[in-house]
Amino acid sequence: MTRKRILVTGGAGFLGSFLCERLLAEGHDVLCVDNFFTGSRDNVLHLLDDPRFELLRHDVTFPLYVEIDEIFNLACPASPIHYQFDPVQTVKTNVHGAINMLGLAKRTRARIFQASTSEVYGDPMVHPQPETYRGSVNPVGPRACYDEGKRCAETLFFDYHRQYGVDIRVARIFNTYGPRMHSNDGRVVSNFIVQALRGDPVTLYGDGSQTRSFCYVEDLIEGIVRLMQSRDATGPINLGNPAEFTIRQLAELVIEMTGSSSRIEYRPLPQDDPLQRKPDIARAQAELGWQPRIALREGIARTIAHFEAALRGTPAQSAP
Ligand code: NAD
Ligand code: UDP
Ligand code: UDP
Repeated sequence: MTRKRILVTGGAGFLGSFLCERLLAEGHDVLCVDNFFTGSRDNVLHLLDDPRFELLRHDVTFPLYVEIDEIFNLACPASPIHYQFDPVQTVKTNVHGAINMLGLAKRTRARIFQASTSEVYGDPMVHPQPETYRGSVNPVGPRACYDEGKRCAETLFFDYHRQYGVDIRVARIFNTYGPRMHSNDGRVVSNFIVQALRGDPVTLYGDGSQTRSFCYVEDLIEGIVRLMQSRDATGPINLGNPAEFTIRQLAELVIEMTGSSSRIEYRPLPQDDPLQRKPDIARAQAELGWQPRIALREGIARTIAHFEAALRGTPAQSAP
């Protein structure tokens, strides 16, 4: 395989750090660009000694002039509490960030991957969600900075593709979890595990009947890499695990698997919180030969092990 110079934006985040690791393992040079808003040096500390790895503090809303062969655009906070902290910056990251990275791809003729999201489907009226479903998004609600920002980024990707022939790959990623999520990340899997391990109440928003479909990080990274390596699959293509659970089932599973004495504490359901979500992955199966392999119970066990170590202060393992 040819050795490539690969840029990963958001590379010091949860998914980005696993992707950097995978690309280095394949023998590529990796330039990790991150403004450390939700990511951190700690996530890539174990890669810093590798001469093929370079870490650059940079905000993708500003132009970036580097010479590269491939781009993975992952920069964007993914947890509702973080992307709603500074919604204007979230829109800028999605829109200006996409324009800058597409401009870079256009100039260098680099193939470019976009980490889009199941949130483009909003609170879906069609279940499970195929890529052909156009979504049900509130454009003026508190989640819009993320949902509409990601939708606009998809538009930009397809316009740069049609107008300038940029070689694009767009994945719609469904809820993904695993080791190296931050304990204050705010997303449901890390919240529940950390709360259960500490013996704190497990915070269930709403009545817990809303559903999500959880994909383990290792499976997701495999899907991203296959999409990037495929000959001509531009996407958009759903990547996620179609096994669907209610959030209450997740809370009960985490309490059981941690052996915790935590009780469930009910909190109000946030505005515009989607009631159901499950990917239709027929396209990923047909075009990439991809489907997830790691079941929720196994992935949660690995994630619990990570947080147990992190809460004890032992360095987190570098691989899932
Ligand atoms: P994360 O918050 O751990 O990682 C995002 C990274 O982007 C962080 O390191 C952050 O510091 C960086 N970043 C944010 N704004 C930036 C900016 N303006 N310039 C440079 N860096 C910036 O989240 P994650 O779960 O690793 O998500 C990575 C990508 O995948 C995001 O684009 C997210 O929208 C997408 N995604 C994730 C999921 C999921 O379930 N994990 C689902 C759908 C889509
Ligand atoms: N850009 C960048 N790096 C590059 C090339 C472009 O960051 O190597 C940014 C630059 O800020 C530009 C944006 O990408 O405004 C869009 O580039 P494009 O060529 O599409 O537009 P233009 O330069 O005409 O505004
Ligand atoms: N959630 C919850 N308790 C928490 C965090 C989240 O019940 O401590 C719920 C949240 O309301 C949503 C689901 O879990 O219905 C998934 O939330 P997350 O923020 O992980 O992802 P997203 O809503 O973006 O899918």
